[in-house]
Formats: sequence, C-alpha cells, structure tokens
Amino acid sequence: MNSVQFSALFISALLLTTVAQMWLARRHLAHIQAHRAKVPSDFREQIDLSAHQKAADYTSDKTRLTMLSTPFNALLLFVFTLGGGVQWIADLWLTTFTNSLIQGLAVILTVLLLSSLLEMPFNLYRTFVIEARYGFNKMTLAMYLADSAKSLLLGALFGLPLLFGVLWLMERMGANWWLYVWGVWVTFNLLLLFIYPSFIAPLFNKFTPLQDETLKMRIKALLQKCGFTAQGLFVMDGSKRTSHGNAYFTGFGKTKRIVFFDTLLERLVPTEIEAVLAHELGHFKRHHVLKRIVSTFALSLGFLWLLAQLMEANWFYAGLGVTTPSTALALLLFFMILPVFSFLLHPLMSYYSRKHEFEADAYAAQQTNAHNLASALVKMYQDNAATLTPDPLYSTFYDSHPPALMRIARLQTLQRA
Ligand SMILES: [Zn+2]
Repeated sequence: MNSVQFSALFISALLLTTVAQMWLARRHLAHIQAHRAKVPSDFREQIDLSAHQKAADYTSDKTRLTMLSTPFNALLLFVFTLGGGVQWIADLWLTTFTNSLIQGLAVILTVLLLSSLLEMPFNLYRTFVIEARYGFNKMTLAMYLADSAKSLLLGALFGLPLLFGVLWLMERMGANWWLYVWGVWVTFNLLLLFIYPSFIAPLFNKFTPLQDETLKMRIKALLQKCGFTAQGLFVMDGSKRTSHGNAYFTGFGKTKRIVFFDTLLERLVPTEIEAVLAHELGHFKRHHVLKRIVSTFALSLGFLWLLAQLMEANWFYAGLGVTTPSTALALLLFFMILPVFSFLLHPLMSYYSRKHEFEADAYAAQQTNAHNLASALVKMYQDNAATLTPDPLYSTFYDSHPPALMRIARLQTLQRA
C-alpha cells in the first residue's frame, strides 16, 4: 500500500459510512412520519394518539439533529486528517516542547479539546432545545456547565496518567508494546468498574437507600429466589437532570448495587418494578455482563495489535495528512479513523445486544411474570417517548433493544407458554 492508495481508501470509507448513516436516518424519519397518524394496533389500548405522536415528533427531532451532526463530524475528521489539522497542531507544539512524550500528550489533548468544543453546540441543542421541548430536560445551564467541568477534571485526573503511561510503554517496550498497553488498559478499566459506584457516580447524583419497606421485602424475596447477592438497594435522583426513567446494576462481585431512578419508582407499581429488576438480573444470570466485558477486552487487544502494525508504515501517516510520524500521532490517528472502518460492526453488535435483551426478558418472565414486564415496558416507552415504529433497517443497524412491537409480542407468547 502507498499513501495515495490509503488516502483513497480512507476517503471512500468516510464517504460510504456518512452516506449510509444519512440514508438510514432518512429512512427512519420517513417511516416514523408514515406511521404517525395511527397508534399500532397492539398498543391501542395502552397508548393514546397524543403520546404516540409525541414519541414520533421527539424521535424525528433527534434524527434530524443526527442528520446535521453526521456530515459535520465527517467534515471535521477530514479537516483534521487530510486537511492538515493534526499536522498543524503537531507543528505548533513541536517548537513549544522538547520532550517527545509531552509533545505527543499536548497534540492529543488539543485535538480532543477542540473536537469536544466543536461538538458542544449539538449537545447543547439536544439538551436545551429538543429534550426541553418534550419536557424531559430538568437541567439548568449552570448544572450543565458544572457537569462538564466535573467530567473534564475527572478525565484529566484519570486520563492524563493513563495516556502518559500508554505513550511511555509504546516508546519503551519494543515490538511487543501492545501487550503491555493492553494489560494497563484492562487493569485501568477493571479499577474503574470497582470505584465507579462508590466514588464517581456520587459526584453527579445523590444515592439514598431504598426506603419503601414493602417494596424492599418484595425485591429481597426476588433476589433470594434468583440466588443473587447485592450490597444495597439505592434510589438515584435522576429527576434532577431528566425525566427519563431507568434501573441498573453497578459494580461487580460483592460490591454490586442495584440502582433505581426515582422517576421509575414513581411511575411503576411494585409488580412492574419487580419484573424490570428481574430483567436486569437476567443479564447477570445469563452472563451478559461478563460476555460484554470479555469481548470488549478481546476487541481492544485486536485493535492494539493492528495499531502496532500500522504505526510502522509510512503510508499510514502520509495517507492521513501527517508528515512527521510519531507514537502519539499514530495513536491519535488510529482512534480518530477507527469508527469509519468499524461502522459495519454496528449491526453485529446490535444483534448480540438485542439477543441478550430477549434472553433477559425470558428470564424475567420465568422468575416473575411476562405480563408485568410488558406493562412496565409500555409505560417506559411512553414516558421516554420512544418510538413504537422505527424503520426496520435502521433498527437492525443501531438498536441495542428490540423494537417495542417485537419485544411485547415475544413476552405475550412467553406468557401463554
Ligand atoms: Zn436489558
């Protein structure tokens, strides 16, 4: 391969993924609009027309925003690479710092900061215009800025030493550096999993032990039945930021916690809460969490190996508009262009995720009651204004959860069985 060929390959892939993303979004939009006038017959009794139309409009607004951000991000990537942006930033720091590690760190941080600043208008619009329009956003601008500042500080606290360590290993460990870096990456992520529930999440939200005694009894009985131990049941003040509801587990081993959004507890009756929890337990019992962690680690090992091969090739840098090859630039360029080349992995990952959701639903139906889970899901679809009529192809590509119609239909057959 030479640099011209690699440039051509990169531009083709970038164009192809951008066009595919736009095409899928357009299909999605058209499909939702075409089904806006009528509630799907399976839901006619539980969801009224105004709620269905709210979901259609909300999803359409979000999709339209994606149709703006997608070409913008593609253009940004082009400007950074073949447009000479990364090289320009690298030249800037070349004269400022003499140490190559510090230089590399400065280039990476500059690109990261610039990208997030340029993407900020889209995030602001999503939160303060779209989410607000449908009554979901509860955040003030001050809160948004405080959150951003906290995330930035945390990113610096954890990310800077990690990045520094990675660059150091890449330069000092010879041909097998990717094995060392992978070891550090895995350790770092496991550490983060351990400290997230007790140290990081509380920086953003308040967690109070679940007070409702009858609900607590029910949940404890369910946990016992499923043979599951958790360190605590917590309620999170999710309503501080959004009126979207959810429930989740964090941590692993003996530090596992069950967290309910306050908004979810307000909306669902105890039997429904129990069913939702049983679904989450299903993810654990069917080893979905472990499978996901293991496959992510395996994938990152593959990527690091690939990076180790690419960084030795001059065409890799020159093909992406960089004339001064370095370790840091290889790392930066690789992770910038990775999404362009891994786009086709989306449907595969979505497929596995949906498969896991069906398995967790089946587990919940077995341990509790399929009818309760179905009625909880309908309430959650309605409260989150999730569309009941996604474009099938769009859904196949992106959706981590099965479309509402399919999921409820499956639960109904489980109920009859
Ligand atoms: Zn799930």
